[in-house]
Amino acid sequence: MTPAPALKVLIVEDQPFDAELMVLRLQDEGFAFDWQRVQTEADYLAALHPTPDLILSDWRMPRFSGLRALELLRGHGCDIPFIIVSGSIGEEAAIDAIRCGASDYVLKDRPARLGEAVRRALSEHAMRARHSQAQAQIDFLAHHDALTRLPNRNLFLDRLEHALARTRRERQALAVLFVDLDRFKAVNDTLGHQVGDALLLEVTRRMLTAVRANDTLARIGGDEFLLLLESDATAQHAATVAGKIIELLTRPVAIDGQELIVTASIGISLYPEDGDDGGTLIRHADLAMYEAKEQGRNNFQFFTRALNEGALERLVMENALRGAVARNELTLHYQPQVDLASGTLVSVEALVRWAHPVHGLVPPGTFIPLAEDIGVIGDIGAWVLQTACRQLVDWDARGFSVPRVAVNLSTRQIDRDGLVAQVSQILDDTGLPATRLELEVTESMLIRDPAHSKTVLGALKALGVHLSVDDFGTGYSSLAYLKLLPLDRLKIDQSFVCDIGRDSNDETIIRAIIALGRSLGLETVAEGVEKPQQAEFLLHEGSQIAQGYHYARPAPAPEIETTWHVAAPTAASGK
Ligand code: C2E
Ligand code: CA
Ligand code: CA
Repeated sequence: MTPAPALKVLIVEDQPFDAELMVLRLQDEGFAFDWQRVQTEADYLAALHPTPDLILSDWRMPRFSGLRALELLRGHGCDIPFIIVSGSIGEEAAIDAIRCGASDYVLKDRPARLGEAVRRALSEHAMRARHSQAQAQIDFLAHHDALTRLPNRNLFLDRLEHALARTRRERQALAVLFVDLDRFKAVNDTLGHQVGDALLLEVTRRMLTAVRANDTLARIGGDEFLLLLESDATAQHAATVAGKIIELLTRPVAIDGQELIVTASIGISLYPEDGDDGGTLIRHADLAMYEAKEQGRNNFQFFTRALNEGALERLVMENALRGAVARNELTLHYQPQVDLASGTLVSVEALVRWAHPVHGLVPPGTFIPLAEDIGVIGDIGAWVLQTACRQLVDWDARGFSVPRVAVNLSTRQIDRDGLVAQVSQILDDTGLPATRLELEVTESMLIRDPAHSKTVLGALKALGVHLSVDDFGTGYSSLAYLKLLPLDRLKIDQSFVCDIGRDSNDETIIRAIIALGRSLGLETVAEGVEKPQQAEFLLHEGSQIAQGYHYARPAPAPEIETTWHVAAPTAASGK
């Protein structure tokens, strides 16, 4: 163990003998220290560097005074225990001294008190130091991210506002970069938070090498960073920095013996072009970042007015969509599915449309993802199920019997509990036999949580409902897994069908799907059949059912009824 460094004591005293007495006294009390005596202002100031640990000072001296020594100390802004040791300090002067920052005073004719006064002054000082250290740490944490030690959102906003004020005055430019790591959540979820944290630290380290000393890099959320570029913040420079960050991140990171690759999407907004306050600049950089994600991630995008309009449009749409079910703005179109061999109607697929008061009929591809995002897909899904089932019963009553109706499910509907009860309730309410309802799910929905999907599909199957896999061939299904599910049909995705006659690869895939269906005991439904040659090919290869413009476009219920009631008065019964 290294011995504690000796105290450095500065004695301000014109009488060498008095100084010696103090030293002896303290040594007697067991203090180990180095000391130095001064008696003028100039020597005193020089002796403050490096700072002593303790000052013992006379009050009145011929060329200097304790009060002046205290004032100078305060002027230096240093906190050093300071004890007046005087032969004659009066009560009032003593109060002045304490007020000016002296820790204590000791009368020369009562030297026995010196040791105790020193001990107390030192321990109070140590406590103050610990306190201010804790305070500094609290301040730091309030403005920084604990993991990366980067500034947090608050400090970033603060720096941004200051930078803006300066930039405005000097008519300069600045840039804000919004950096979001791609698929970081997957790393956290699959490899754990420790690996996630290590990755974040490495990402931070790399990003810091891409920026200049006066730029501010802040971490504002799990995998979100903001970067403020202040000097030479032209579009060109911002693009260079963004490009450099992307480049630095694409190099693999080795953590725990694994090679990880994390990429980033970056959005850039510039002052003054893209906004003149901090909030707007950040929001616009954020929008641009989303555009970078849309563009396939691992790239950067500049904010544009069009992005803003897009976001505004989306917001307006969101608000309108929230009330769409209640305002009766949804309607269903039905698209016939026909038996390839006989051309008879075997089913209709219900396809939802939103009759938007301003935009007209909005296709589901536009608003279903939005509905999923804002959490109204449950209401919409329930409405579609209810309406489609009731339609079949209505048609029955009018003597137009459609064997089956297929309804699309969304991921959220499968994920949420209560789907089975809901379906069963709707079948009860409408009186439609379960075998006349078919539910379409996609491979990706099933794969997300295989155990849960299996339970839900099993329960639906137990009700008697038919199940089909939509857009088959486009997802990642494990064939072994498909075998375990109680399915009835595979719907061959239209992207394969549309290339029949043009792309032999797609024809091969279609043959394989039909063969797979056959071996699993499933029917195949070809989607997007637009041409007679496609229908011929599919029939020849052994697919049973077809759907597409070649037969009929999706249409409102009355139109389906007029066209198909006459054309197919006796529809085949369900499977
Ligand atoms: P999907 O289930 O694959 O539906 C087939 C889509 O292909 C429909 O588009 C249909 O109009 C279109 N289509 C049909 N025949 C042809 C053809 O011969 N050629 C071409 N090019 N297209 C054809 P739509 O109605 O715009 O629906 C798009 C998607 O929206 C649907 O794809 C489905 O995933 C989703 N969707 C529709 N209705 C609902 C619903 O009620 N709930 C949920 N969750 N999703 C729905
Ligand atoms: Ca479908
Ligand atoms: Ca489909």
